[in-house]
Amino acid sequence: MEFGWSDEEQGFRAEVRAFIDANWSTGTGHDWEPERDSDAVATYQQALSDHGWLTMAWPEEYGGKDASYIQQVIFNEESVLTGAPRGGQGASLVGPTLMIFGTEEQKLEHLPKIARNEIRWAQGYSEPGSGSDLASLQTRAVRDGDEFVINGQKIWTSGAMHADWLHVLTRTDPAAPKHRGISYFMMPADTPGITIRALSQITGASEFAETFFEDVRVPAANMIGEENRGWYVAATTLDFERSGVDRVAAFRGPYAQLRRVLDDAESGVELTASGRGDIADIEIEAEVARLIGYRVTWMQASGAVPNYEASMSKVFGSEMIQRDAQRASRILGQRGMLRPGSPHAVEDGVFCQVYLWAPSRSILAGTSEIQRNIIATRGLGLPRG
Ligand SMILES: Cc1cc2nc3c(=O)[nH]c(=O)nc-3n(C[C@H](O)[C@H](O)[C@H](O)COP(=O)(O)OP(=O)(O)OC[C@H]3O[C@@H](n4cnc5c(N)ncnc54)[C@H](O)[C@@H]3O)c2cc1C
Repeated sequence: MEFGWSDEEQGFRAEVRAFIDANWSTGTGHDWEPERDSDAVATYQQALSDHGWLTMAWPEEYGGKDASYIQQVIFNEESVLTGAPRGGQGASLVGPTLMIFGTEEQKLEHLPKIARNEIRWAQGYSEPGSGSDLASLQTRAVRDGDEFVINGQKIWTSGAMHADWLHVLTRTDPAAPKHRGISYFMMPADTPGITIRALSQITGASEFAETFFEDVRVPAANMIGEENRGWYVAATTLDFERSGVDRVAAFRGPYAQLRRVLDDAESGVELTASGRGDIADIEIEAEVARLIGYRVTWMQASGAVPNYEASMSKVFGSEMIQRDAQRASRILGQRGMLRPGSPHAVEDGVFCQVYLWAPSRSILAGTSEIQRNIIATRGLGLPRG
């Protein structure tokens, strides 16, 4: 069994690293930091777009690089390690969904703009009463001639405050079984009747928003896929969201910082016997997570469609970050709990931020319980409860 990288793949990794070093300053923020310099993110994404890497997975005809799954994983890993941004929802979710379900007009209008980094997208799926059971969503769209009129509310809409366009699931047939009465729309975020209200998180950041729809008029031509078949389109979009394996690398940056603190004789942090055990566990689990993640990539590269395998990667990777955050906190004691800006915080409070940020990882893109249900039923063949 060979788990190594080919010379070509190692060369590509070096190319990615050199690009990030040349274009992204690590001082401009990670996901868990309260302030991420949005101008720096936009400038870097423009550099990615100019290089063809914003949409590297896309076919060349749509402005991509036809990158292999292995190349995408290498790119994602290096980006996560350095905190460098990637393509956003347009590149990773909306574009690929339009390539499968979009009309020719929709592809011509949106794909080039996404590839050129002109449009930022946000995803309006979850509602206050519909998260895991997404098909129960209530936001209503009613046809009126060539338009639909939308009323309702979405929540946890990541990036909505900065978005140019939204992709939104609505109920178009309340009488049909819940999965069969949903339609999927795209609309500019500044369409009259849309109100976006940022939500604050415990980290101090505002990553997502509540999004309200009051008599919002959207052309019927903005529907993705067929009327009342939006659930099946969205299922494809969610597959793109869940198959990402890069989350397993998310703790590597803070881990390097932790090692730096431990190596610094002046830091005042001493590694105890239990701390050494924690370090060993961080290392072991990182390797396990990497191999589970690579399995998903290997399946994709071989033409197979990962299913419960992606759920295994999601559940292990997201819960590992939480365990790692707790381990770092145990090793550093009270100093690991201080927030950025505190004069006594180590590495400017990064460990506290990661600790506060980590719980959200096992909620977004399908909670751990939902992933475990998938592993149990589809992976192990256990009966549905
Ligand atoms: C950082 C972050 C970003 C997000 N971004 C977006 C976004 O951009 N767009 C968007 O639409 N949504 C977004 N979400 C929302 C996310 O998809 C939902 O939070 C998630 O699907 C869970 O839904 P919920 O919060 O309503 O919890 P619920 O579904 O109400 O779940 C509550 C609890 O019950 C458990 N549970 C529910 N059903 C079952 C079951 N059948 N079996 C066992 N346990 C169950 C859950 O696991 C959970 O522990 C984001 C969430 C986070 C944390």
